[in-house]
Amino acid sequence: MKVRFAPSPTGFLHIGGARTCLFNWLYARAKGGSFILRIEDTDQSRSKKEYLDEILFSLAWLGLDWDELHYQSQRFDVYRGIAKKLLEEGRAYLAEDGSGAVIFRMPQKTAEIDDMIHGRITFDTGLIKDQVLIKSDQSPTYNFACVVDDAAMGITHIIRGDDHISNTPKQVVLYEALGYSLPRFAHIPMILGAGGGRMSKRAGATAISEYRSMGFLSEALVNYLMLLGWSPGNNQEIISLKDAVAKFDICDANKTAATFDMNKLLWLNSQYIKTCGAGKLTELIVPFLKDRNLIADNNFDGKFTGNVLQLFTERAQTLGELADAMKPFFVKDVEFDVHAKEKFLAQDLSGAFGTLKDRFAGMSDFSAAEIERVFRQVAEELGLTTKQLIHPLRAALSGKTVGPGMFELIAVLGRERTVERMERAIQLYKHRPV
Ligand code: GLU
Repeated sequence: MKVRFAPSPTGFLHIGGARTCLFNWLYARAKGGSFILRIEDTDQSRSKKEYLDEILFSLAWLGLDWDELHYQSQRFDVYRGIAKKLLEEGRAYLAEDGSGAVIFRMPQKTAEIDDMIHGRITFDTGLIKDQVLIKSDQSPTYNFACVVDDAAMGITHIIRGDDHISNTPKQVVLYEALGYSLPRFAHIPMILGAGGGRMSKRAGATAISEYRSMGFLSEALVNYLMLLGWSPGNNQEIISLKDAVAKFDICDANKTAATFDMNKLLWLNSQYIKTCGAGKLTELIVPFLKDRNLIADNNFDGKFTGNVLQLFTERAQTLGELADAMKPFFVKDVEFDVHAKEKFLAQDLSGAFGTLKDRFAGMSDFSAAEIERVFRQVAEELGLTTKQLIHPLRAALSGKTVGPGMFELIAVLGRERTVERMERAIQLYKHRPV
């Protein structure tokens, strides 16, 4: 068997297109068939190289490899040849305006398909007007080029969004007119936005490349796309592409529309971030840190980066969020959140900070456990509760009111940076507005 994904490079690859591609790919890999990528670039004014590049890059990034790649723009002669044959047979005619457009004479009949998802669908083609096959600029229309290619390329199953159902009868009559046998059709239900309507930009209709730059892992995104209209069963939600191949069948796709749920995608991404392993995660986070000018090209402390990463791995939902959380560890001067600044300045703790800083400076084993011991000892000596000291200290060291465990944070920050930041905090207390 052979399937195809046929994007038009007139826009970026979005969630819907990626899901269609994934279902085709999974079906081909599950059945040992082949998967064709066909670029439907017949509209030469709307097709753009930048879209094409993004589509190819995003598919590769998602791990959806193709066995053949075709461009419709290179096949205009084929379409014109077949249109000429239909003209000669009287099944098509030339437009009366002399423009050279070729028009298909729509037969009056009942066309029928046995859809793999929706079952039997019948269409009355008498309600459809004659169809243009070749436009006046000699480029083919979508329905015509699609049928010519699906037949020429030996496509056995057409899996696409059910927004194409209205095109299906126009294609069925062309198959018959050309003497080709019909492929099987599987029209997958649309993806709705959170509000129930069409997916809008706010409700997730964003280019796959944008998800990549927000810091979604390709494995998480592909896993999420699978769940938009299919389920591996047993309430399983986390599934790799490889395991999905073993279980996938297009007949099991849902009959009703799926709803895009950003929170679910974020949750899945956080699961993949947690389990992908320190080595891979470091590799993934580096471009995000570079992008934020937090580390320089090939000149950064890998061990330190890995340690900082570990502090935030548990909670991050995206790589972007992770890199933002890591920022305080890579800047010279702490930037305070408004709340952190208030909390930090509420009480003059320069004396306590001074004592604590000196003790930290004298430590040889700068581990979280040792830091905690010293910290509690100093608080007790000074008659302060740990709370009184811990929140201002967190603000002074990270600029934030929340974050990972305080003692782990200090251990990762290291003795030198900790002492330096506390010295700066003491200066800030001295200039505190009263
Ligand atoms: N180029 C069409 C699209 O992007 C392909 C539709 C089909 O799969 O037949 O919608």
